[in-house]
Amino acid sequence: MKLSSTQLSQVDAQIKRLIQTDSYYGNKYKELGITGISSEEEFEKLPFSSKEDLRNAYPLGIQAVPDEEVVRIHSSSGTTGKPVIIPYTAKDVDDWAVMFARCYETAGITNKDRIQITPGYGLWTAGIGFQFGCEKLGAMAIPMGPGNTDKQLQMMVDLKSTVITATSSYALLLSEEINKRGLKDQIHLKKGVIGSERWSEKMRKSIREGLGIELFDIYGLTEIYGPGIGINCPGETAMHYWDDFIYIEIIDPKTGKPVEDGEEGEIVITTLVKEGAPLIRFRTHDISRIVPGTCNCDKCKKYPRIDIIKGRSDDMFKVHGVNMFPSQVEELLSLVDGVSSEYNINIAHDEEKNKDVILITCEAEGRVNFDAAAAKIKELFKSRIGVTPKITVVPIGTLPRSEKKTKRVIDHREL
Ligand code: ZN
Repeated sequence: MKLSSTQLSQVDAQIKRLIQTDSYYGNKYKELGITGISSEEEFEKLPFSSKEDLRNAYPLGIQAVPDEEVVRIHSSSGTTGKPVIIPYTAKDVDDWAVMFARCYETAGITNKDRIQITPGYGLWTAGIGFQFGCEKLGAMAIPMGPGNTDKQLQMMVDLKSTVITATSSYALLLSEEINKRGLKDQIHLKKGVIGSERWSEKMRKSIREGLGIELFDIYGLTEIYGPGIGINCPGETAMHYWDDFIYIEIIDPKTGKPVEDGEEGEIVITTLVKEGAPLIRFRTHDISRIVPGTCNCDKCKKYPRIDIIKGRSDDMFKVHGVNMFPSQVEELLSLVDGVSSEYNINIAHDEEKNKDVILITCEAEGRVNFDAAAAKIKELFKSRIGVTPKITVVPIGTLPRSEKKTKRVIDHREL
């Protein structure tokens, strides 16, 4: 995606405004002698911004407007280190609602809909984003927040909610409860707007069929407003994003260089009109690609598209020149009957043959023929990803479990 001349002057204006402030990025740009940009080449030379910067600027070093203009903060929960705090002006809050309402509209949701909001309210950007977007659209918000499934289902039935917004795991739980309790013919849901990083096709199918609804992926991150900066349109998987508010580049996560449209890489976002905490070239670590060409739909035709988020660049590993993610491995394993979701991957370099070797160890239930399961998994990898790993199937409970996120990929190659 090329920067349009409007976008170019918007970024230039952001830089010129930032260097007038005593903010983290204002000072950084001044130190680097950056005074503005007049071309795409100059834009691509601007330093990236990162979550690390935002932690360094904790709590409010990022703030680029006077205190009296800040109306709210949000925070992303860091699993490590300090949280990140993002200040918003009244215009930022409104811009976010405009984008979010556009997401709802793209999904075919109207002001006649009743939107049950189950993501959490509070410091993080989820619940309140869904709520403000809903009110901006003029639909009825049913602000439930997470949990309390009895009450959720009561409201869903009595108020005839037509849209559910949730994380994929909560949508799945609701779907299971509705079917368990025999409530399916009492609910009026038509659409689900799901805001979470990535979810398997198996999960999509369970939710879609369990609730009998159409599903939409909403994209966003706290550092860049929150959820609502992009969504897919009906019948499509690619997500439109709002290029009047954000500019997206896809870069090679290793080299930092932009890749061609259509090629996979890391999403880097620049806010074009944000006031409280503008971010230029923010590395999201989300992996996707620009989907070339325009969409069939009339309404959103003018907005560019990115593909469904494939994973995190931190998790990505490369074997035989193919980019792979733990999420793909999980997805393939989930297709084989009796195989659990526990696994690990060892990658090594065979000096003799001068090629990389992948060894996947996974678990299966006792009733399963381990050799047949291994052959099936191998075949799936070959046909779906184009690599042929060695597979070892072990009984369930053999692989180590940990409360924390388990390290599943062990790379023995010298880098
Ligand atoms: Zn479209």
